[in-house]
Amino acid sequence: MKHIVILGSTGSVGISALEVLASYPDRFDVCALTAARQDERFAEQIETFRPNVAAMADESAANRLRSRPNIGDTTIYSGVEGLVQAATLDQADLVISAIVGAAGLVPTLAAIQAGKNVALANKEPMVMAGQLMKQETSAHGVMIFPVDSEHSALFQSMQGHRKEDIRRLILTCSGGPFRTCTREEMRHKTKAEALNHPNWEMGSKVTIDSATLMNKGLEVIEAHWLFGIPSSKIEVIIHPQSIIHSMVEYKDGSIIAQMGIPDMKIPIAYALSCPEHISLDLPRCDLLKEGPLTFEAPDTERFPCLALAYRALQVGGTMPAVLNAANEVAVQGFLDDKISFIDIEGVIERTMDAHSRLELDTLEDALSADSWARECAGMIVHDCAADSVVMRRGSYA
Ligand code: NDP
Repeated sequence: MKHIVILGSTGSVGISALEVLASYPDRFDVCALTAARQDERFAEQIETFRPNVAAMADESAANRLRSRPNIGDTTIYSGVEGLVQAATLDQADLVISAIVGAAGLVPTLAAIQAGKNVALANKEPMVMAGQLMKQETSAHGVMIFPVDSEHSALFQSMQGHRKEDIRRLILTCSGGPFRTCTREEMRHKTKAEALNHPNWEMGSKVTIDSATLMNKGLEVIEAHWLFGIPSSKIEVIIHPQSIIHSMVEYKDGSIIAQMGIPDMKIPIAYALSCPEHISLDLPRCDLLKEGPLTFEAPDTERFPCLALAYRALQVGGTMPAVLNAANEVAVQGFLDDKISFIDIEGVIERTMDAHSRLELDTLEDALSADSWARECAGMIVHDCAADSVVMRRGSYA
């Protein structure tokens, strides 16, 4: 029996992970779950899976949870310390890291430092502090199994091959909902349009990141740290059908790809059971019905966020943490209707331009770069919002 913790069980990845675990009760036991604010959904998960521990980041949500009748004997913790208690539980064998954003860094790093293997969906900690995460992984002798479908595909395409034979990693990208839009069309895109991803159902932050292509940029940085491959050997290719999840090209010209329907349960299950491929009750990938598989080069003129991520990785130090935090603030600003879709990239670029790179050796370095960038990006969002009010007023005149 493998004892599993899920950080972020009420999210899109967390729910898919619970579905996989529920279909193998003889192999997996859920020992801890965490969430942030959705106490009603979280209470239902606790009632179904009966974890020993449950933690909520939000104190008032945790208090509401404690007063619910259906939580049984589960011990409830709260705040960041509560998340860390769940992530480092003695009996845990594997921690599924599925919190969204920088909030996952502290508990995920704590899990690694407590000697837990991690199934990593939450890419932002790897973007913020990849070197530190890798150092701690080696120091504590633990494994990080990728859950992101692209990284799972790369991981699977490397099995049985030598790292020194790799020529390049090819990360595939659906292109998002605005793949064929001009800059002018993107300027007027609404939140609802940006949240309407063509192939994947995901949480709102990663869906907006997919529309700007920042998600692919974050994945380039994640791939660099996960697999120890320089950014010059990591390429992105648009593949609108999302059937090939990524590929590895070797020195002799062979390209190994991993394919399947776009369903996160597949990479989640592989991270839980690798090297075994366990059965999943999912529709099969019928290549005859899929139609042609096509490829396009990404256009960084129309999607500058991808280029910003490469730039952050090349600058190194604190810059990727700054990129990540500025992106989180900008995406939230867009979701809150404060800035336009096209303003997202401007907020990130201006925050990066204002930052002087520092070394990033410790968790504190990562957290302080994160909080500096949030403050800076917050001010830029505020300015953009004020400018757009002036423009709107002007247009009424
Ligand atoms: P969701 O927004 O659907 O879920 C996020 C989860 O994190 C929820 O459980 C939420 O709790 C919790 N959470 C939010 N804020 C905090 C916080 N401050 N502290 C602690 N917990 C918090 O996200 P997704 O499942 O879509 O994505 C999770 C991660 O996986 C992201 O990093 C994303 O990039 C990555 N990923 C997602 C994919 C997908 O298909 N969704 C695919 C590949 C990678 P609550 O619900 O209570 O607010």
